[in-house]
Amino acid sequence: MKTSGTKKPNTPKIIPRAAHNVSRDEISKSALKVLYRLHKAGYQAFLVGGCVRDAMLELHPKDFDVATNATPEQVRALFGNCRLIGRRFRLAHVRFGREVIEVATFRAAANHKDDDHAHDEEGRIVRDNVYGSIEEDVWRRDFTCNALYYNIADFSIWDYTGGVDDVQHRRLVLIGDPDKRMREDPVRMLRAVRFAAKLGFSIDAAAEKAMAKDVPLLANVPAARLFDEFLKLFQAGFAERTFELLRHYKLFAELFPATDKELDQDPDFLKFVKAALRNTDRRVRDDKSVTPMFLIGVFQWASTKKLAAIRRAEEKMSESQSLGLASYELSAAQQRRIAIPRRFTVPMRDMLALQPRFEQTHGKRALKLLDHRRFRAAYDFMMLLADVGQFDLDKAKFWTDVQNQSGEERATSFQISTQPKGKKGRRRRRRRPKPEQLS
Ligand code: ATP
Ligand code: MG
Repeated sequence: MKTSGTKKPNTPKIIPRAAHNVSRDEISKSALKVLYRLHKAGYQAFLVGGCVRDAMLELHPKDFDVATNATPEQVRALFGNCRLIGRRFRLAHVRFGREVIEVATFRAAANHKDDDHAHDEEGRIVRDNVYGSIEEDVWRRDFTCNALYYNIADFSIWDYTGGVDDVQHRRLVLIGDPDKRMREDPVRMLRAVRFAAKLGFSIDAAAEKAMAKDVPLLANVPAARLFDEFLKLFQAGFAERTFELLRHYKLFAELFPATDKELDQDPDFLKFVKAALRNTDRRVRDDKSVTPMFLIGVFQWASTKKLAAIRRAEEKMSESQSLGLASYELSAAQQRRIAIPRRFTVPMRDMLALQPRFEQTHGKRALKLLDHRRFRAAYDFMMLLADVGQFDLDKAKFWTDVQNQSGEERATSFQISTQPKGKKGRRRRRRRPKPEQLS
């Protein structure tokens, strides 16, 4: 085990059980099992991070992170249901059915002079894998409210950074020098916004100042990590507030540059985006499924329509085809910022390309739309447009109603005559029937 040893020892403020409100009822049984077993084996065992913060705020935490002085191998030796994961950080995952308790060994804060930590030219941490003591583990954490340790030995909270006070005052304060901490890991800017939106905390002035300067550094963060962060930002039930803060701090432009430009120019588009974000938040609250492709499709809608019109002017193609093509091109450009997996970009393209087909409510081709594998997503998208006055309400109602109709009713709705008539009909009748129509 390597220890950096460059930090001076420090003493925490210890808040005894009687003086704080983190109750064991708020901690999952599995997390308690892990903590008790580590403790019995003679190791230090703490809950740390968001779960302590959220328990203090009575927000009923669901994810529990454990910090210990046991190494990952020592943790594994204690638990049968344990897997070691991660290369940059070695972590132990202890599994109880569907619940996973993450157990991390104390690590030391990044230090420029320390060879075991590597930074790039902007100061971003690229390696961070040195074990340490709890006194060191504290300083590598991002915000003071995320650096509270709940000690299973006596149920006290250890606070090295003034986190308890900051939770009480509902403020996000970066640990250490804000500019240095943002440069080390620019994702912390997104985390600041995420926690501000979720917790209703204010971002401390010093952190805000660093953010104003360091926003462009987000461009150095790997696109795959930004996708993970995108999910946390927009699928946690606070998407609308998060979006507003991201726009306020100019972070949104770093994540979705094309969308950001359109938002500045087009108030209707902004209205649509906000409606979609509210809708997503509602779905999360109601425990309904959400897919990232829906919001990303919403974000791309304005530029997709514009580019599609350009492509149609260049070459003869249908509106649907042009939307599909434009979405494909724009997704490729967007990938440079946020790596959206193909399993999302492909259905998203269909969802956008299907939009013109809702205009058509007569005939067999219109009817067939109901069977399209992306009908549901495309329908939800269209309904959202209708909600904000950007799609015809009567047609929206038509598509809602036909979903509950029988085959016969649908034939009437789509004005598909069962009696062949006219020239076309006669010709059809003469055609040889397909095998399945014979039976
Ligand atoms: P939530 O789970 O509600 O999103 P959280 O605070 O638990 O919030 P996690 O991403 O689960 O956030 O991280 C757990 C803890 O690890 C954080 O509370 C923080 O102490 C530390 N941490 C996570 N990411 C970073 C980071 N980029 N820089 C510094 N510390 C971090
Ligand atoms: Mg967490």
